[in-house]
Amino acid sequence: MSPALPIKNWLGLKGERRGRRKSGVRKAVVLLSGGLDSSTALFLAKQKGYKCLCLIFDYGQRHKKEILSAKKIARAANSQFKIVKFNLPWKGSSLLNKKMPLPKDYFLKNGKIPSTYVPARNLIFLSFALSFAEVSKAEAIFIGANFIDYSGYPDCRPDFFAAFGSAAIFGTKSGTEGRPIQICAPLLYKTKDAIIRLGIKLKVPYEDTWSCYMGGKTPCGKCDSCQIREKGFRRLGIDDPLNKKG
Ligand SMILES: [Zn+2]
Repeated sequence: MSPALPIKNWLGLKGERRGRRKSGVRKAVVLLSGGLDSSTALFLAKQKGYKCLCLIFDYGQRHKKEILSAKKIARAANSQFKIVKFNLPWKGSSLLNKKMPLPKDYFLKNGKIPSTYVPARNLIFLSFALSFAEVSKAEAIFIGANFIDYSGYPDCRPDFFAAFGSAAIFGTKSGTEGRPIQICAPLLYKTKDAIIRLGIKLKVPYEDTWSCYMGGKTPCGKCDSCQIREKGFRRLGIDDPLNKKG
């Protein structure tokens, strides 16, 4: 049978199905990069009552700083985590290939997909998460993707998540047996300042998150990721606790 969930319910939290597991424990796999958005998504999933199983990816990125941050955040949320290690030998991104220069301001100025795009990254990450969710009997996958204040990556866009939500139903045993794993992207349509405001309410330790593409001691302040983050805190009129930390 093919369970029918309307597309709108695959995004955000509207389609949550409460109390589906007989044990009463509702589990969610959370994609955790150690950045601001995924950390907020983790704390939000916890607030929604999920027992969170975090997935952290060590996929040959330029620096390990974000992995250290992700581990800290998972511990702060009192959540289990697994690190999945793999690499893409063909690289194809300035986030993976140190010989390529890192663009500054690229998407923000040009509106084109920047070289920091990692080919099909969210498709790969979500596929791992789906496999893990099916085995661990998790009913949802949380991803902190954002489509408003973002770097222009196509796999952060609503169409992609709708399509993946469909693949998650038709490509898994649990989906075809009527227990679909829901893809939750609750931050998709929020501005960065709205995400930070939500995270502050949820007590996300932003001082332990890491967004910069560079792995320096302190954030570079110039890359797209730093600038988007800075804009969010500026709009709220508060200092980024990560900067105070340094
Ligand atoms: Zn930076």
